[in-house]
Amino acid sequence: MDYEILRERMVREQLMPRGIKNQRVLDAFRKVERHKFIPENLRNSAYADFPVPIGEGQTISQPYIVALMTECLNLNGQDKVLEIGTGSGYQAAILAELVKEVYTIERFETLAKRAEAILNEFGYTNIKIKVGDGTLGWEEAAPFNKIIITAASPGIPLPLTEQLKENGKLILPLGESFSQVLTLVEKKKGKLEFMDICGCVFVPLVGKHGWSNRYA
Ligand code: SAM
Repeated sequence: MDYEILRERMVREQLMPRGIKNQRVLDAFRKVERHKFIPENLRNSAYADFPVPIGEGQTISQPYIVALMTECLNLNGQDKVLEIGTGSGYQAAILAELVKEVYTIERFETLAKRAEAILNEFGYTNIKIKVGDGTLGWEEAAPFNKIIITAASPGIPLPLTEQLKENGKLILPLGESFSQVLTLVEKKKGKLEFMDICGCVFVPLVGKHGWSNRYA
């Protein structure tokens, strides 16, 4: 399978026609080898227009949703970004192409270890991974310019709003456990402003400031 051709097709047929315009974002999607983040037996679906299972009942999101969340954050090369929900490590790799530093937290050790191995193999030196409850944030590394939560949350975890810089942006799927609204939050003069982006469906954010374990 020629993965480079599949990546170009993904960019041209899934991302650009749906309005992803940022050239740096599109180039990151052309560069990062998404198939390497996907279990070998499912690699033929790596560039398909849907989420793919990655183990532990979790998924790597559909390429378009990863691109949309990335573009909405309006990232720049000096940003320090916190990701909640490392999963496969793919979103972290995309972020690492675009910003100075990425901090990413995953609740399943198995997934975090696998993601870390792949990210090391690619030689990323600007990504730090830890295992734990991401709803608590990463206090020692805070504050962050941007925060991305890649699991569905019933609300905005308070520690994350505190760890977001003034004029910072946070994006998350907000709502019920089975359907949410992708929401962009901006911190302006200490207050949070909300913008609805689109409907979406994510696996639940499970933790102290997310859903309880019975949704996992
Ligand atoms: N960003 C990932 C990627 O690129 O593959 C996809 C993330 S997947 C849709 C959501 C991830 O969030 C899962 O791996 C899940 O285990 C993780 N998760 C859920 N609740 C969490 C929490 N409280 N802290 C950290 N990770 C969490």
